[in-house]
Amino acid sequence: MLELGEELGGTALAGSLQGRPVPWGAHYINVPPAEADCVHALLQDLRVITGYDAAGRPQVVPAYLVRWPHERLFIEGEWVEELDPFAGAPAGEVEVLRQFEDQMLRWTLYQGRDGRRGFAMPLRYSSRDSILRELDQLTMLQYLRSKNWNSPRLDWLVDYACRDDYGTPLDQVSAWAGIHYHACRFYDRRLRDQYPADTLTWPEGNGFLVRRLAERLAPPQWRSNTAVVRVEPAAGAVWLGCMDTRSGELFSLRAKSAVYAGKLHTVPLVVQGLPAPQLQAIASLSYCPWLVAAVQVSRLPQGKGAAPAWDNVLYASPSLGYVAADHQRPPGNNSRVLMYHLPLVRQVARARRELLEQDHAFWAGQILADLRQAHPDIEEVVERLDLYRWGHAMVQPLPGVIWGEGSRLRAQACGALSFATCDTTGLPLFEEACFAGIRAAEECLERLGTGGETLLKGLADG
Ligand SMILES: Cc1cc2nc3c(=O)[nH]c(=O)nc-3n(C[C@H](O)[C@H](O)[C@H](O)COP(=O)(O)OP(=O)(O)OC[C@H]3O[C@@H](n4cnc5c(N)ncnc54)[C@H](O)[C@@H]3O)c2cc1C
Repeated sequence: MLELGEELGGTALAGSLQGRPVPWGAHYINVPPAEADCVHALLQDLRVITGYDAAGRPQVVPAYLVRWPHERLFIEGEWVEELDPFAGAPAGEVEVLRQFEDQMLRWTLYQGRDGRRGFAMPLRYSSRDSILRELDQLTMLQYLRSKNWNSPRLDWLVDYACRDDYGTPLDQVSAWAGIHYHACRFYDRRLRDQYPADTLTWPEGNGFLVRRLAERLAPPQWRSNTAVVRVEPAAGAVWLGCMDTRSGELFSLRAKSAVYAGKLHTVPLVVQGLPAPQLQAIASLSYCPWLVAAVQVSRLPQGKGAAPAWDNVLYASPSLGYVAADHQRPPGNNSRVLMYHLPLVRQVARARRELLEQDHAFWAGQILADLRQAHPDIEEVVERLDLYRWGHAMVQPLPGVIWGEGSRLRAQACGALSFATCDTTGLPLFEEACFAGIRAAEECLERLGTGGETLLKGLADG
């Protein structure tokens, strides 16, 4: 394994501030739905899922469940418990929310003519029914309006979810992806007893899963600070040109079979000889940049209303608010690092340039101005503010990305080279990265003639 960064992790990278772990990127997952065979296998292997009850519901290590209070929302001048912008909303808007929730429940329970769930996880296990495929041709905003749902609060709720999980706003994200967020897990309170959808998180975020995975590897099996700068796939081999990023030393390797697991936007710069349609499919992907800040505070900043939670969301903000990095530590601790998230979802090419060009003072000013609306004393308590800039944080599931012709081409092996990363399927999620990685690994094993039983039984079912 050849890794460009100093550490393993990629977008699930964990860092350390004053000896305390912080998540610089991905920071949570959910209990996977029943059909997510490969995710179950991995989480059992990593000792996150410890067993199953008589009804087949997974049991997880209790310390990994997000602690209460889970979330709060700053709206109309005060913090309210949970992510509920509907408190005090006019009856008409509450009715729209009910209709939306009922429809998402129907999609959650939808079984296709092919016997598959409508919105499964991994997404490749989903039903092929045309009524579903058509949803990938419109935006989520068009879908909401096609149902005559006109509610600024519902728009906000759905937009927030899509910016958070997909780095893509309501008026740009594929309706299939937007619905998948609400329908792939059993979030609805009416289903809560049937199957869990709990959030799992760790002080270092998904860096915890990276560390558990890396425990299996000894140094000769991987090297960091290594850029793969050229990949030449052929029928029986893959040639790799590499550079040690510290010394500048160049070296080459020959592999019988290889997986390219870097984000796909790098492929045209690195991989040689791909067919033009595949290159075109890859080049047409769009990525949202993202700014993450670790705001260290001397004490929790004050704010009117509900008590601090793990996820602290701002209604009137381009940001997603912040996650308290210390929240999973023993109760009673005074959370000291707030992980602030700003996905730059509009005009992504311009935003990426701005993210690169603007300096620390600029971004610190923007962040503190945003937080000040909820915490008037924020400047008094900030001790230090570190930034992490993600130029290509998340692949954007725009209409057609998930079920269009390009999705098949993106995942297509070339000679002895397979492609992983969640970009191949089109949703920037841990579960999709897990699926794509296992699929690519199984392709390699098959090439080498050592393939065993597949972990991806859901690809064949139905
Ligand atoms: C800020 C942020 C928050 C997120 N939050 C969540 C979350 O809470 N939950 C969730 O499920 N998902 C979240 N995600 C999405 C996250 O991207 C996925 O969960 C998952 O980590 C994607 O993994 P990947 O393997 O597809 O890609 P990556 O994480 O991008 O991994 C690609 C790896 O390839 C390496 N690489 C690239 N090019 C080269 C090269 N030429 N040579 C050598 N190495 C190279 C990179 O350094 C990197 O380590 C978040 C993403 C970001 C950016």
